[in-house]
Amino acid sequence: MENLRIPGPTPLPKEVLDAISRQMINHRGPEFRQILADITQKLKLLFQTRNDLLLLTCSGTGGMEAGIVNFLSPGDKVLSVSIGVFGDRFANIAKQYGAEVVPLRFEFGQAADPDTVRKSLEANPQVKAVLVTHNETSTGVTNDLATISKIVKSFDKLLLVDGISSLGCIDLPVDAWNIDVAITGSQKGFMVPPGLAMVSISPAAWQANAKAKMSRFYFDLAKAKSSLDKGETPFTPAVSIAFGLSVSLDMMLKEGLPNIVARHVRIGKAARAGVKSLGLSLLAADERYASNTVTAVVASKGLDPKKSNKIMREEFKIVLAGGQQTLEGKIFRIGHLGWVAEEDIKKVIDTLKVVLPRAGFGSA
Ligand SMILES: *Cc1c(COP(=O)(O)O)cnc(C)c1O
Repeated sequence: MENLRIPGPTPLPKEVLDAISRQMINHRGPEFRQILADITQKLKLLFQTRNDLLLLTCSGTGGMEAGIVNFLSPGDKVLSVSIGVFGDRFANIAKQYGAEVVPLRFEFGQAADPDTVRKSLEANPQVKAVLVTHNETSTGVTNDLATISKIVKSFDKLLLVDGISSLGCIDLPVDAWNIDVAITGSQKGFMVPPGLAMVSISPAAWQANAKAKMSRFYFDLAKAKSSLDKGETPFTPAVSIAFGLSVSLDMMLKEGLPNIVARHVRIGKAARAGVKSLGLSLLAADERYASNTVTAVVASKGLDPKKSNKIMREEFKIVLAGGQQTLEGKIFRIGHLGWVAEEDIKKVIDTLKVVLPRAGFGSA
């Protein structure tokens, strides 16, 4: 079997593989109604929230789009805090739907500086909402969301969070941190295939929704909420992914969220220690903000990361990720989220030790 070490989709446990191969059922029948209620309730435990939680059939980006179009109107000012490719995507969605985006970008590898967020909010009093990526998958950096949230809430703004590569892996207590809209996707921390996005919505966000005028149809969350109240989704959901999620959520709750978070802390540390022991360095400028779900490694000392990733994949069946956009060819990334054990990362590091010199490492 391949050691799929990209930051989602992740490998699937046998129990989930079995569950997703089940025969179809009526998605408007009593059995699915029960599954939908059950997974919604269990997801709320992992989001650590009492807010409404809705399932959408789409990838994580669909959840991000839902997070924008349901709470804003064209012309609304939003502060976009971006530390990488996914932060920029969040801003682009808002822009596409007519928001006036105030960009606050930090260099790739840096975490967002909370004090700069405060200054931007002081300088832009008309801002309605703040967009933040909790864990930036393109750079392997986790923002200090607890501190950023306190600042955003001291200005009484809506806080919309992309938690796609953190929820269910890195602690993200939605209610304790006053996250108005938290978004994630099934293929990252939840050990199921791509196909579902999960979005939590606070009472303040629903108030904004009542006045929000951006156009929406498939991702209309008010419609999704009224369907859920009847035990359904407005459109045909990804039934098989829901089967898988029902099983994976039981596995996650059995392990326990604090244990899951601790496992990701341990594995993140092991990945970083391993990378450094090879003589490579992290893209995360300050290791205190290095991500526990994905490690981004700078290709230094002559290393061609595309070549090393190719050898890893073809000869050792270990699949790593490359860099995105301006980081292409400059970094490689090791995914360690969801269904992952320390042993998986040890294998990656041991194999890199053999492969890196064959891909130029040490030649410059
Ligand atoms: C994966 C990811 C996305 C995009 O999700 P898709 O499921 O590919 O649409 C967005 N944000 C972050 C932080 C991610 O890790």
